Amino acid sequence: MNDIEQLKADYAELIIKEGLNIQKGQRLVINCPVECADFARLCTDAAYSAGCREVLVRWSDDYLTRARFLHAENDVFDHVDPWDTAFLDGVSEEGAAWLAVHAENPANLNGVDPDRINRYQIARGKATEKFRQREMTNYFPWCVCSVPTGAWAAAVFPDMEKEDAILKLWEEILKACLVDGGNAVENWHKHSDELHRHVEMLNEYNFRYLHYKNAAGTDLMVELPEGHFWAGGNENTQGGVQFSANIPTEEVFTLPKRDSVNGKIVASKPLVHNGNIISNFYFIVKDGRIIEAHAEEGDEILKAAISVDEGASYFGEVALVPYDSPISESGILFLNTLFDENASCHFAFGEAYPCLKGTDGKSEEELKAMGVNFSMTHVDFMIGTRDLSITGIRHDGTEVPVFVNGNFAF
Ligand code: ZN
Ligand code: ZN
Repeated sequence: MNDIEQLKADYAELIIKEGLNIQKGQRLVINCPVECADFARLCTDAAYSAGCREVLVRWSDDYLTRARFLHAENDVFDHVDPWDTAFLDGVSEEGAAWLAVHAENPANLNGVDPDRINRYQIARGKATEKFRQREMTNYFPWCVCSVPTGAWAAAVFPDMEKEDAILKLWEEILKACLVDGGNAVENWHKHSDELHRHVEMLNEYNFRYLHYKNAAGTDLMVELPEGHFWAGGNENTQGGVQFSANIPTEEVFTLPKRDSVNGKIVASKPLVHNGNIISNFYFIVKDGRIIEAHAEEGDEILKAAISVDEGASYFGEVALVPYDSPISESGILFLNTLFDENASCHFAFGEAYPCLKGTDGKSEEELKAMGVNFSMTHVDFMIGTRDLSITGIRHDGTEVPVFVNGNFAF
């Protein structure tokens, strides 16, 4: 085995051990582009070595996805087969581990009728409600990772030959995931501990507001709900098993108070969403709701994205990532949210992670009143810049610099 092949196996092992922490007798579902079958095989080997009961694989393919959106009969986009929902409900209920390999061509659905994309997103959103709710509350361990495909690598490195671009993207992914030929699992633990230090400090400060400002035009006041807490790095499932939902990850995050975000927020990187690129966009937010949105590219896709349901026009995540994070320092625009969100402070519109104390047994209405947003969507978008400042305002009114010039002030 040459070096890079060994590193890929190390990466698969990191995902199985740290990302999902597969337990003896547990099942694993892998969602993977068929082009990355080699990587799914590595993950499968690592999973069985860890005592996995059975590995189930769901293949996807950009070509087939695009062909379906272009040529399938119109009403298929309003429909998800009941057996698909039953599968997701079944594996999530038993607590199977869930691995998603995100490696799409960022412009795969460019030129497709946006109405088809939108209707299908709504149909899927409804059909996967139970599954998503279990995922957002860590009922089962889940992990998002990425491996190169030819089309994705070519979009990131357009001037390179395809094989070189794939190799270069592999190298960057492995670097970002701290897979360096040493002990990747140990590296990951150390990294997670560092993220936990910021989590602890932010929890200690218990800010009431965060005020974002930069020269790009962002000027946003975000209230954090009473009882919120920050999270980042390794988390626990409801059953108490440690896992890591994103590999790589550089973020610490919490939720904003649903109806108390006000001002303007300007995106700092393009957003790849539903097979389209949305770039140079901003939102104006009043009492938590996006009341104005505009993108220079992908405007129709953006407007559809914040309209899939009522909660899609409210925010569900506040995440802090230093401008000097290793992924950001690479200077590469990955056109893949898993990487771009971990190179930049970001928000998500849509469903909130319930990073809130005292939520047990509460109804959706009660949680909403506590400040939690509900939606069938959850879309991270990047807003961090070199000059971003974030000021924390405590309950007694004292102000504390949280970010100065794009990086943590503490
Ligand atoms: Zn995030
Ligand atoms: Zn998110």
